[in-house]
Order: sequence, then C-alpha cells, then structure tokens
Amino acid sequence: MKNASKFYIDGKWVEPSSNATRNLVDPATEKEFATIAMGTAEDVDKAVAAARRAFPKFSKSTIAERIALLEKIDTIFRRREQEIADIVTQQMGMTHNLSTTGLLDWCKVHTALTIEILRKFEFVEKMGTTTVYKEPIGVVGLITPWNFPIGLIFTKVLPAIATGCTMVCKPSEMTPLDGIVFAEIMDEAGVPAGVFNLVNGDGQTVGEAISKHPGIDAISFTGSTRAGIQITKAAADTVKRVASELGGKSANIILDDADFATAIENAVAACFYINGQACDAPTRLIVPRARMEETVEYAKKAADAYVIGRPSDPKTTMGPVMNANQFKRVQEMIQSGIDQAARLVCGGTGRPEGIEAGYFVKPTVFADVTRDMRIFREEIFGPVLSITAYDNLDDAIEIANDTVYGLAAHITGKDIDTVRHVAREVRAGSVYLNTPDWDPKAPFGGYRQSGNGRECGEHGFTDYLELKAVIGHG
Ligand code: NAD
Repeated sequence: MKNASKFYIDGKWVEPSSNATRNLVDPATEKEFATIAMGTAEDVDKAVAAARRAFPKFSKSTIAERIALLEKIDTIFRRREQEIADIVTQQMGMTHNLSTTGLLDWCKVHTALTIEILRKFEFVEKMGTTTVYKEPIGVVGLITPWNFPIGLIFTKVLPAIATGCTMVCKPSEMTPLDGIVFAEIMDEAGVPAGVFNLVNGDGQTVGEAISKHPGIDAISFTGSTRAGIQITKAAADTVKRVASELGGKSANIILDDADFATAIENAVAACFYINGQACDAPTRLIVPRARMEETVEYAKKAADAYVIGRPSDPKTTMGPVMNANQFKRVQEMIQSGIDQAARLVCGGTGRPEGIEAGYFVKPTVFADVTRDMRIFREEIFGPVLSITAYDNLDDAIEIANDTVYGLAAHITGKDIDTVRHVAREVRAGSVYLNTPDWDPKAPFGGYRQSGNGRECGEHGFTDYLELKAVIGHG
C-alpha cells in the first residue's frame, strides 16, 4: 500500500518524524503481510497545528457544504468498499461474509443517516429571550480500536464533519490499513486541508500525545476500559472532554415463556459475532434454572455448527481472534472457567481440530457459571459463552446488573410487559428486545465502566458540540 509509510497531515501525505515501523501479522496465518510507519508526539503536533489552522474556516462552513462533502465521501467509499473489506478481513480475521455486508452497511447507512440528520439539525435553539447556539467543540482527537475498524472511524468522523469540527485520527496500530484508505478517500473527496489528519502509532506514544495535547479540545475514544481510564487521566490536565466507548460483559436474559430453540440460537450468534470480539456481545446468558439442560443442548448445537477457517473463505462463519496476545488471553480465560469448576459444554483450550496455525479458538460454551467466576466477571473478547441460572425475575435482573460494565443487554420472552419491565430494570445503554432489527438511529454507549459517550444518530452529535447561551436583548 503506497501510503503505509506516511501520515496524512494538512491535506498531504507526509513523511513521519521518525523511522519507527510496525509489521502487521495476518491472524489467520501468523505471517507478516505489511509494514506501517509509527508516529511520535512530533507528528501529533504537526497534525494538531494543521487542524487548528483549519478550524476557523471549517467551523463556519455551511450545512450545504458539509453535506456535499459527506456525499462525496460516500461516493468514493462505495467505489473502494470491496478493497476495504478485503483489508479488514486480512488485518483482523473478520469473516469476509461480515466485512462485505454488516461492516460496509454500517459505514454507508451511517453516512446517509448523518446527512439526513444534518439537513434538519437545529444548531440554534430559542428559549424565551435566551438563544442557545450549538457550536463545534474544536479540534477533536479520534482514537479507534481494531475490532470494527473502518466502521468506528466512520462513527466518529461523520459527526465531526457534520458539526464543523476538525480532527486528528489515530486508528488501532493493529488495523491501520483501512484508515489509510479512508484518508485517501477524504483527500479525493476534497475535504479541506487540515480538517482531517491521520497519524498512525501506538497508544502509549501517539494515543497519549493526543490525549495530553493542549491543542485538542475533545477526545472520542473507543477501546478497552483500561485505555479509557489512561486517556481520561492524561486528558485531565487540559480539561478536555473525553467521550469514551469502552468494554462490556453484557447480559442476555431469556424469560421462561421464550421460544428456547430460537432464543438460544440467537444468543450464541450474538455472543460469537466478530469471532466473539464485539464490545456489546451478550457473553452472559441468564436462563431459568429449570431450563438449564435444554439451553445447554441448544447452545452446544449452535456452537458446534460454526465453520472455522480462513476468514476469506465464504464458507467460514468464524475466523481467528486478533493476535497472539488475544489468543493467549482467551485460552487463559477458558482455563480459568475449567479451574473454577464451570461445566465445559463444548470447545475448550487449544486450537480447533485440524488447524495448525493462526489464532483460532474453539467456540466454547460453559454452563453452571456462578457470579464469582472470572468468566462471569471479565471481558474475554473471544468466542466464549457463559450460562448462569436464575431462580426468579428479580434474581435474573440482579444477576444481569452484577457487573462493573453496562454496555448492552438482551431480553427474550413472549409477554411483552414483562420484557419491557426487565428492560427498564437493567442498567445498560442499549437493551435489545427479542432480537430486533438494527436501528442505526439509536444512541450507542455504556453505563458505568462501559463508558460515558453516546454515538450514532442525532445523539451522536452531542459529544462534538459546545453549548453557548446568549442571554438577554441588550
Ligand atoms: P485498546 O484499548 O487496547 O486500544 C484502542 C485504541 O486505543 C487503539 O488505537 C490503541 O492504540 C489506543 N490506546 C491504547 N492505550 C492507549 C493509551 N494509554 N492512550 C491513548 N490511546 C491508547 O482496545 P482494543 O484492544 O483495540 O479494542 C478492544 C476493546 O475495545 C474491547 O475492550 C472492546 O469492548 C472495546 N470496544 C468498545 C466499543 C464500544 O463502542 N463501547 C466498540 C468496540 C470496541
């Protein structure tokens, strides 16, 4: 890739300030396939300076100008989308089935939605003699993870452009190549110089430089709770707003009157989405005690049906996890489940049978999981489902809420009043009732240690805006 050794700053592809590089490893083969430049605080300084220079003019751009830019970005993205899907599959092992459908749809649907919202968005609100102006917050730092790479770049860049912010983006160092193509798209779309800047690098160097930088007004971060805490601390000295979208350990409550065959099949699919690496994956399945054996049977059937293999193969339904560290972490967590006497229903440690290389994990289901176990409490980020029994509705709610996280919850049952009652009691940012269709307008974000931001739809503009109250007539 021609721009892998460069950064996109001030509307140009520029040489990095150091010659540090990183080799990317294909998780399906464990072989290196590309090398990227790694940035430093100096590169961040240049990117921030460009973004600050661009801000006065871009913040005053008209809505029509910003809609035109978004439309151009969409057109060029559609031309290059297959290339991007291939890159994502190679970089992080997302199955080609998903990278060519759900991931690309996410980007296109959110672009269309952002344009629709921007057409009607009220940047000025009248409250009697007071006028509230919603103004772009300034230069934003956008730090994204590897698990839904281009999708989460879109989730942040779209509202930043829509509200008139300028930005410095740092994609995950594990999945930088789709970010490079994205910067090429921004360039071709004619995004004014300095509005969008891209610096690759690791969290400790480039991520920290962005977090601390006095020239950055706000950060939108998606990633682990660990990094979210570090970023928030680093940003504190400059009092920047940090919108964080962090980890999770989401619950999936199945009510007694649910259709268990369908509910459990859906539960396994939701847990194993992106090879078990979705932030909002419902990894804790909570079922009536008397229905445990039935649940185990359906869950095993669903998990055993996964076709594990090369993610580029259209027959594959589960690819590898991201990297050697992630593989080690998932193995350790599976072992902890065994050691803490959870019942291993299927899967377990080691690679799936017949697979010699790659970070492939056996789709794993544990039953009789109790609240003290690590597999109940910790985010695993791999295809591991934990099933816990409840005795009554209050018990189910208490088990669901027994977590430091609060990103999502799923509830399945026939009596909609009970389903809605449970939804109101669960402390989570998104609650999905009976496996609904995707709603891109719904705000997405967490309670508690799952973060404090809300992305997507109209609510997704909030983190990029400052409110100015102009009071009185005089
Ligand atoms: P990560 O926290 O390791 O890295 C995310 C990004 O932060 C990367 O770009 C990384 O370089 C950077 N980073 C790491 N340490 C940093 C630091 N000290 N200062 C500044 N930047 C730093 O996360 P990951 O492994 O890439 O992604 C997986 C995690 O992301 C999981 O915990 C998952 O739940 C979470 N996630 C959350 C959401 C959400 O919307 N809530 C969405 C996707 C992923």
